[in-house]
Amino acid sequence: MLRRAMTDVDVKLGLQIIRERIQKACLLREPELQCIEPTLVAVSKTKPVEMLINAYDADQRHFGENYVKELFEKGNDSKILEHCKDIKWHFIGHLQRNKINKVIAVPGLHMIQTIDSEKLAIAVNTAWAKHSPSDQKLKIMLQVNTSQEEEKNGMHPSEVVEVAKNVLEKCPNLELCGLMTIGAYGYDITLGPNPDFLCLIECRKALSKELNIDWKKIHLSMGMSDDFEQAVELGSTIIRVGSSIFGYRPKKTTV
Ligand SMILES: *Cc1c(COP(=O)(O)O)cnc(C)c1O
Repeated sequence: MLRRAMTDVDVKLGLQIIRERIQKACLLREPELQCIEPTLVAVSKTKPVEMLINAYDADQRHFGENYVKELFEKGNDSKILEHCKDIKWHFIGHLQRNKINKVIAVPGLHMIQTIDSEKLAIAVNTAWAKHSPSDQKLKIMLQVNTSQEEEKNGMHPSEVVEVAKNVLEKCPNLELCGLMTIGAYGYDITLGPNPDFLCLIECRKALSKELNIDWKKIHLSMGMSDDFEQAVELGSTIIRVGSSIFGYRPKKTTV
């Protein structure tokens, strides 16, 4: 397949195609999963503000970034502030404690999906209270390392219930929305349902059972460009799609 040059990427068409594919995947769900419509987070990392604005003009509201500096710059970009007043930012990258204040200062921050420890949750809880002393809670998700790969962030699946319990008890300024995973890359779905997705679903079951929470209130953020259809079919409620909307993204070589 030929890779289109970045300037040729038609963001609106890309979005339309992804939305249609999501709709189709929803039809394949078990009846009990039909009720939850998945939210599409457009992952705009490394892509210019103009492309985000194109997507916003096509009614895209949720955007994901995984570098703190980039999120901060885009979130404070004058064109974004002026044109995208209802933008909802999701932070989906690894969050170091010394960067918390920078993330929570982003206008339009909607959710931090990558809380990977109780310590981090408590630090974000404290920072949010100082930053926003209203009763507006900050939405968060717990990131689970379902593939248990060393280079991936996230808590071990066996820690999820304990961490969630502590977040609920100790972090009154946070709203625990659900669980997020990245998972192993390149899984061949002809082998059956992706074990990372199944693992996250199991974590939700455990959370629901142990903490007595309605499972329908626990979001699952799973699925990216290569595998979002299967994730949706299995009940993902938040999918994070980048390259299929904004085009090929060269691998980042600097940090
Ligand atoms: C980059 C990224 C995505 C999107 O990946 P694509 O394959 O481009 O769709 C999703 N989630 C996270 C955490 C990412 O870093």
